[in-house]
Amino acid sequence: MDYTLKRSKRRKTVAVKIAQQQLTVYAPHYVSQQHIHEWLLSKESWINAQLNKQSQQAETRQFPMRSGNCKLFAETLVINFIKDTKTQWQQDPSTGALTLSLSARVKNKQGNYQHLLESFLHSQLESYIEMRVSDYCQQMGEALPALIRIQIYKRRWGSCNRKRELTFNLHLASAPTWVIDYVIVHELAHLKYLNHSMQFWHHVAKFYPEYKKASDWLKDQGASLQWVFE
Ligand SMILES: [Zn+2]
Repeated sequence: MDYTLKRSKRRKTVAVKIAQQQLTVYAPHYVSQQHIHEWLLSKESWINAQLNKQSQQAETRQFPMRSGNCKLFAETLVINFIKDTKTQWQQDPSTGALTLSLSARVKNKQGNYQHLLESFLHSQLESYIEMRVSDYCQQMGEALPALIRIQIYKRRWGSCNRKRELTFNLHLASAPTWVIDYVIVHELAHLKYLNHSMQFWHHVAKFYPEYKKASDWLKDQGASLQWVFE
């Protein structure tokens, strides 16, 4: 065991302090080295537990972690966190691995990595939704919506208003595409029926027959779609 020994004339007992993963032993001047060593051995498991706890705390404080993962369209993506000259996300075209880089000057690393991840997922979800909306609009004989927005919602997957503006929950980016398709058909059906009437559900079923399965999936698994670095 490595430690720094500090002796003092006024001290009556042996004590140990653990800070920044360093061990310091305080002892009265008359206590022998041998005695201190034995005393430390008797406390070894407690000391190791403290050192472990401190190193774990140091790791969580030293965000970024070097790597992590998230789900995109229900597939696990590896995320690498790096410091670089630029703040940006990049996706490896062959492995799909995502690299989030922050400039060394950026403060609040955790918040900014989260922000970068969200901007990546936003762009992936947006291009998927735009493509599927135009497919389904053709099938459903519907004109394109006035606007498609993506934002984080706590309690809904999508919305549609009288101005024909559709909004989708960013957390859908982690869901399987067949579930996202259901939310798209659901919101597009609201362009015709701004309610959840029988006719509305009939319209949904016509273009997405397994709507029950998809909406059950969201009820069961929806809460697992959120990503937070904590
Ligand atoms: Zn609805």
